[in-house]
Amino acid sequence: MDPVLEIKGLDVDYGVGDEAVRAVRDVHLTLHRGEVLGLAGESGSGKSTLAYGLTRLLAPPGVIRGGQVLYHPADGEPYDVLKLTDKQLRDFRWAETSIVFQGAMNSLNPVHKVVTQLVDVIKAHEPRSTKASRLARARDLLKLVGISADRLEAYPHQLSGGMRQRVMIAMALALEPRVVIMDEPTTALDVVMQRQILGQLVELRERLGFSVLFITHDLSLLVEFSDRIAIMYGGRIVEQAPAAELYRDALHPYSFGLLNSFPALRGPRRELAGIPGSPPDTRGMPAGCAFHPRCPKAFEPCDSKVPELGLPGGDPTREVACWLHPVAAH
Ligand code: SF4
Ligand code: MG
Repeated sequence: MDPVLEIKGLDVDYGVGDEAVRAVRDVHLTLHRGEVLGLAGESGSGKSTLAYGLTRLLAPPGVIRGGQVLYHPADGEPYDVLKLTDKQLRDFRWAETSIVFQGAMNSLNPVHKVVTQLVDVIKAHEPRSTKASRLARARDLLKLVGISADRLEAYPHQLSGGMRQRVMIAMALALEPRVVIMDEPTTALDVVMQRQILGQLVELRERLGFSVLFITHDLSLLVEFSDRIAIMYGGRIVEQAPAAELYRDALHPYSFGLLNSFPALRGPRRELAGIPGSPPDTRGMPAGCAFHPRCPKAFEPCDSKVPELGLPGGDPTREVACWLHPVAAH
């Protein structure tokens, strides 16, 4: 599969000098064309920081310290998003890659009708489009996400949480981006609604062909809806695998713990074992494998040597960083 976004060696700090803490460490992650890639981890694992970093939306004191984010456009050579000028970045966002933030459903402007907000996104990027064409597009977009025409003139407060979320998805799709990033867009919604919205997004992906990076702490959703899953812990990717493989045979003890923290939506219910302890503070990351204080399988090298991410058994479809699994280099 062709890559559309390649994150290479991304490092993100919060703060500078003595105060700096590393929130994202040497992340390598590839999103392929048309793929739904799930990114999971407990809160504080660096998932959102990674998303904000790669779209250059990181607020101070967040600072990108190194790495590349290569975007492969439909035509032409790949370029590094981290090197774009502000003007290029404005064109890149929404049109090439759009992002739906955590809590985005509450970021709609309460004093404007939803149709107006959609039309404004289109107008900002396509100033030469006609008013009629923008309106028609807004209608189509709402229809696409299952909102009927009679809600066009509604104000955000007149819509349910699920509908506001759909409006945000419609806005994210307004300029036909090739990549849609969603950062825990559904946490505030109930489980049934979360599944509906995600299912709809996956269906739209099949029709429109964009790629999705979907970030959540709820691994059961990812198992159901994504093609591949990457697991983050302590700012690093600790495992990635095709979704079915990860579900069937998680290699990293943290992935295994996460899988057991959520009830399965389909198939036999698993025990809610959870993971004892809490995620590490970025200011005091444990030496060696950052998961070792919580790991039921920790052994001799774990508290002193950091396991590198590599191919377990030389399997090119998976990666893991754990001393239990000898890995080959790429
Ligand atoms: Fe557990 Fe050691 Fe593997 Fe870390 S490296 S997950 S501590 S077994
Ligand atoms: Mg987050």
